[in-house]
Amino acid sequence: MERASVAGGSFLFTRAEPARVFIPEEFTQEQRMILQTVTEFMEREVHSMGLGRLASLDAEKDRELVLEVFRKAASLGLYGVSIDEEYGGMGLDFNTGLLFTEGLAGGFSFATTIGCQTSIGSLPIVWYGTEEQKRKYLPKIATGEYACSYCLTEPGAGSDANSGKTRAVLNAEGTHYILNGQKMWITNGGFADIFIVFAKIDDDEKLSAFIVEKSFGGIELGKEEKKMGIKASSTVMVYFNNVPVPRENLLGERGKGFNMALNILNSGRIKIAAGGVGGMKFGIRKTAEYANTRVQFGKPIGHFGAIKHKIGTIAAQTFAIESGVYRTGANVDLRHDELLRAGKTTNEAKINSMREYAIECAILKVIGSEAMCNTADEAIQIFGGMGYSQETGVEMAYRDARITRIYEGTNEINRMLTLGEFYKRMFVTRELPVSLAKSFVPRAVLRNWLPAGSSPLADELRRVDNLKALFMILTGAAGARLREKLVDEQEIVMCLADIMSAAYLTESAFLRVLKLMSKPDASEKEVHIKKLMAQIYLYDSLEVARRAASYAVDSFAAGWQKFLLRRVTGLLLKPYPINPKNIRREIADYFMEKGGYYF
Ligand SMILES: Cc1cc2nc3c(=O)[nH]c(=O)nc-3n(C[C@H](O)[C@H](O)[C@H](O)COP(=O)(O)OP(=O)(O)OC[C@H]3O[C@@H](n4cnc5c(N)ncnc54)[C@H](O)[C@@H]3O)c2cc1C
Repeated sequence: MERASVAGGSFLFTRAEPARVFIPEEFTQEQRMILQTVTEFMEREVHSMGLGRLASLDAEKDRELVLEVFRKAASLGLYGVSIDEEYGGMGLDFNTGLLFTEGLAGGFSFATTIGCQTSIGSLPIVWYGTEEQKRKYLPKIATGEYACSYCLTEPGAGSDANSGKTRAVLNAEGTHYILNGQKMWITNGGFADIFIVFAKIDDDEKLSAFIVEKSFGGIELGKEEKKMGIKASSTVMVYFNNVPVPRENLLGERGKGFNMALNILNSGRIKIAAGGVGGMKFGIRKTAEYANTRVQFGKPIGHFGAIKHKIGTIAAQTFAIESGVYRTGANVDLRHDELLRAGKTTNEAKINSMREYAIECAILKVIGSEAMCNTADEAIQIFGGMGYSQETGVEMAYRDARITRIYEGTNEINRMLTLGEFYKRMFVTRELPVSLAKSFVPRAVLRNWLPAGSSPLADELRRVDNLKALFMILTGAAGARLREKLVDEQEIVMCLADIMSAAYLTESAFLRVLKLMSKPDASEKEVHIKKLMAQIYLYDSLEVARRAASYAVDSFAAGWQKFLLRRVTGLLLKPYPINPKNIRREIADYFMEKGGYYF
């Protein structure tokens, strides 16, 4: 079936056809090779150091070792993933880039170093650069001759990134911007040659962006930050003291830097989720191996229900997030190609295709990072005392994972963004048709009084629709009651964001299973396990949605409205009659037998 992209956020009031959704099982052999190359690189160059040694690496003391791995990755051409072939890169599509990021995850701190080079540090030039800028910088970035960094955050401007004080003033000759300011938490900053710097020109309200070379002079670096995790990744303060930046190094348009920064973060966000998928698969492998071999009370600990519960849960989360990540990535690629066919420039196609899926990227960032942190936490628990030791690498994963809830926009900011972006697309830019949303909700609600039908997973799909309808009903009711005050009622916004996320990820998981069911060559056993994982993810998501819905309703509604909304919530989130214990056990047994998340 011919696939076409869908509007970002439209999943909330439409039901996608499985045939039109991309699933990870459809990656080609070439795409899988990319994943394999990165995974093998990490095993050869990073894991071979020993996990204990890795856990004690320090970006300052072990700088040479970090740079050695950085250079080896360059020699394999890994930095060219997002760079077009004409500038020395591999010109991969976005979804393959996500697969690459999944593979990076096994590299712990090095994943951050390489990820910064291939993502936030170089994409601003790939997406927004002029032809001259691309020709000048991208070939050297692709070969690793130039290491890159992205400088947005300042001591006084974190989540409120547009409030930065770094200033650029054109010199009297009109040849150079003179840059002054201070940037904080700059990944790769300790050895970067290129700094993508966001600063305001004169007294502009909005940021602009600049390509700044270290060789321009006037750049001073702070000491390496002493961090909780990702210790081998360089993170420093960067001071710009009268740095002369040639006028032609203004990146994109004046005053459009903030939009650029946000759009680059859209890509960074989905990549955090892709990395999370890689990290979670790694976690399943480690815990499955340990659960099979660690004996207590005369049995491997994997025999105990409490351990199976954890492995089954992590696997289900991995499956759902993986489904959502690559579904979204494929939509970015489809939209990109459609825009090119419609006559847009390469830059416009890259920028607009990414921007389109801001909602999905934020959802994936939040849920992916939280699931990754949960995986690392539960992995420590499964390892018991050994999980607390540096020897096994599990405590390192726990410390390393934690940052993913903070950078690329904190999870609080991203939860608010999902709802804010939805409102904007629905009521301001009108990119989402209100009429479709209005007709979807009553149909979804009414369907609850009809038999589910006999098509595969009909009951589950109805429950997914119910999550969407509930989101629309509660968002509409909260919006009508609180109006512009809703943005300040953040506790309610967070609840609505969680219901929205539950809808996207449960749908992604079931669409994948349905598509697999229609493939004659799919292994019956694998499809069965994938279906079980989707079911457990739905079961858990319904719990999350129930809690979120009652919190929201109790917080904003009163009287008859509260009564009605509670009744509607009860109808839309009715109990899901599966046996979660048995299903989780079956999932866990499958992966323990396989020794990891392997199909
Ligand atoms: C290891 C590391 C690497 C990093 N790498 C880079 C990099 O390469 N380049 C770069 O530019 N930055 C980088 N950062 C910065 C990172 O993006 C910021 O730390 C992040 O955006 C949060 O900003 P902040 O730390 O100032 O926290 P704050 O903005 O001060 O937030 C503190 C808390 O308040 C909450 N909060 C803030 N505003 C609101 C609001 N309006 N409503 C509700 N809650 C709110 C936040 O969610 C958070 O919980 C890095 C940070 C770290 C720790």
